[in-house]
Amino acid sequence: MSKTWRPATQLVHGGSLRSQYGETSEAIYLTQGFVYESAEAAEARFKGESDGYIYARYGSPTNDMFEKRMCALEGAEEARATASGMAAVTAAILCQLKAGDHIVAARALFGSCRWVVETLAPKYGIECTLVDGRYLENWERAIRPSTKVFFLESPTNPTLEVIDIAGVAKLANQIGAKVVVDNVFATPIFQKPLELGAHIVVYSATKHIDGQGRSLGGVILSDREWVNENLQDYYRHTGPAMSPFTAWTLLKGLETLPLRVKQQTENASKIADFLADQPKVAKVIYPGRKDHPQADIVAKQMKGGSTLVAIELKGGKEAAFALQNALQVIKISNNLGDAKSLITHPATTTHKNLSDEARAELGISGGTVRLSAGIEDTDDLIEDFAQALAKVNA
Ligand SMILES: *Cc1c(COP(=O)(O)O)cnc(C)c1O
Repeated sequence: MSKTWRPATQLVHGGSLRSQYGETSEAIYLTQGFVYESAEAAEARFKGESDGYIYARYGSPTNDMFEKRMCALEGAEEARATASGMAAVTAAILCQLKAGDHIVAARALFGSCRWVVETLAPKYGIECTLVDGRYLENWERAIRPSTKVFFLESPTNPTLEVIDIAGVAKLANQIGAKVVVDNVFATPIFQKPLELGAHIVVYSATKHIDGQGRSLGGVILSDREWVNENLQDYYRHTGPAMSPFTAWTLLKGLETLPLRVKQQTENASKIADFLADQPKVAKVIYPGRKDHPQADIVAKQMKGGSTLVAIELKGGKEAAFALQNALQVIKISNNLGDAKSLITHPATTTHKNLSDEARAELGISGGTVRLSAGIEDTDDLIEDFAQALAKVNA
């Protein structure tokens, strides 16, 4: 594997471990264990004196290819593949903390991520302060002597707020804390948190990386030292490992990731511009539009817009439901990053467990819908919105 290949090439060839049969497409190694040539070889493997696999919970060839390909894309030294995005988030956070430690997290988080830091971590004596992550002074003010981890998503779900990753990383470095970035919404194509100073990147590979609605997966990426000292034992002994079949699906997903994200982003940006001019639409939030509240940070840290659009309808929940029900090409689903365009109403689905106050803080109203643009023809999607909006009572 060449370090100098550009991303699109890495995503097709990076990390390939071709067997003696010379297969074109990566092989799926569905095996739990591995056979050793001798008792001495087994001993050496277990002592770490010889390279090779031991048990699929620790690592296996198809997973290894996926992890290496992700490392090449992300510019990371090490990766660990997990069974879901939440397994990646939970492992990345818990593996490095103990009772008495403190997390500062942006309050605008994917619902399950928020549950992990707000509800689960405190059960083990790990405290958490949630802040409005858009303002660096809030991160700074929340710091305690025990602060060990900063956790954020950017852009955020569902209202696409943007957080200054380099700014948060600078604060973390001053106190020796680690920054964990959930980079799902930005995709690895448009944002490189490690280059911006973050220490650990996590993905739900379920989203753009698979991108075709087939499998759940996740991945944690960082430098070798952090993985060896924090994640390695946690990962081996708690068992969040990905199935090799999933790793294979995701390798195929990575091959087309840049093409899909490009088309999804083009669709999202054109739909955002179309909707912004519609009288029944109160507001469109899209990183990449000049009227995004943090357009300056978007320009500084993102190489492209987003495959998602947040839309606020003037007619509240009734209008949001009518719009969703009238759409024909675009399907109602809480998933995102898929080849199919999907729309959801966060207040009654993904964010229904938050209090009314917490939802209001995040800018989620009854009229908010979140679109995940797919790879369909742009004009079919715009025509779908046009015919559906015509059926919405303003
Ligand atoms: C979907 C998602 C997750 C969780 O991933 P799963 O694969 O569903 O476990 C975490 N963070 C973000 C931002 C997500 O969109």
